[in-house]
Amino acid sequence: MSDVQTKPVLIGKTQQSLREILQEMGQPAYRANQIYKWVHHHQVKSFDEMSNLPKTLRAELAEKFHLGNLTMATREVSTDGTIKYLWKTTGNHFMESVFIPEERRNTICISSQVGCALGCAFCATAKMGFLVNLTCSEIVEQVIRVQQDTGEKITNVVFMGMGEPFLNYSRVIQASHIFSDPEGLAIAAKKITISTVGVVPRIYQFTDESQPFSLAISLHASRQDLRQSIMPIADKFSLDQLMDSARYYTFNSKKRITFEYVLLEDINHSAKDAKGLISILSPLKCKLNLIPFNDTGLGFRTPSAEKIKPFYDILEGAPFTITLRKNRGNDISAACGQLYSKEKMTEKTPRFIKSRPTPIAT
Ligand code: SAH
Repeated sequence: MSDVQTKPVLIGKTQQSLREILQEMGQPAYRANQIYKWVHHHQVKSFDEMSNLPKTLRAELAEKFHLGNLTMATREVSTDGTIKYLWKTTGNHFMESVFIPEERRNTICISSQVGCALGCAFCATAKMGFLVNLTCSEIVEQVIRVQQDTGEKITNVVFMGMGEPFLNYSRVIQASHIFSDPEGLAIAAKKITISTVGVVPRIYQFTDESQPFSLAISLHASRQDLRQSIMPIADKFSLDQLMDSARYYTFNSKKRITFEYVLLEDINHSAKDAKGLISILSPLKCKLNLIPFNDTGLGFRTPSAEKIKPFYDILEGAPFTITLRKNRGNDISAACGQLYSKEKMTEKTPRFIKSRPTPIAT
């Protein structure tokens, strides 16, 4: 092992944990705040740039710590300006982030786990299975490195890359607080969106803790039987249980939930599906985000505009807002559900997910 892998990293450390580290080094507490800001707010690339620290302290920090620990393995630029990054962790795992520039905002789609245990039938990441949870540092570093690489201020963060953020709850929440901290990355809390497949106990916890971040739920079906056939999580938490938790969230937080709904040809866009959506979503403060299916070679297709029209026509009468997600970065497989690191794949992957994922610890 090289020393790169053995030194602890400073990216992703809270102010409190830095205070403890600095105290052990015999330093005054205010140094922790200075270092926290250099790392997360100014995003320096070396300890030498921490100009308000004594040279001896900079040298000591450089000897004992690394700033971060991700290695950029590949960087692919789409014709639409989207950039997909493949990162290698010190544990030799590969995971991805996607930078999506738009006129008025710069969004980064980040990963919370390497692979995913949930087995959604249409998602490429599911094919990898679950490998590991990312550390808080690895989550935060994705944003810092992309900001450094592009020179653009990230305005929006979405946990819609690899993995299920609510199965790595505490690290995702800690990272999100560092993102939103004005002394950290200073990204508005409501512009940080955590997207969950529907891990119901964590939706209650997120509500009870009054977390300031935005919540998105991957719905994809308005009936339990259909949801079960494409999303194994529905075996564990039924659609009714999920909708109860969503109601609890909107009622207590007074915030709107975004429901994501990937359009799968001949599967979930009948008139019955549209009416089902209206019936379950109308009582809630919510928005419905329709996502065109991005091909993942798993046997699903995107419905044509013609096929989808009756579905849209019925939804037009819905009392909630409906948006259609733009496809970005398709040419480099950077769109939703296409994140999949081939590097670690050795076995031949099945065309369809036949087995249920292993039980999920919540
Ligand atoms: N585990 C989280 C984050 C997943 S990725 C979740 O389930 O919400 C973000 C979104 O992309 C989810 O709504 C997911 O269901 C959707 N998605 C997965 N595969 C897709 C595909 N091939 N095309 C379009 N959207 C997809």
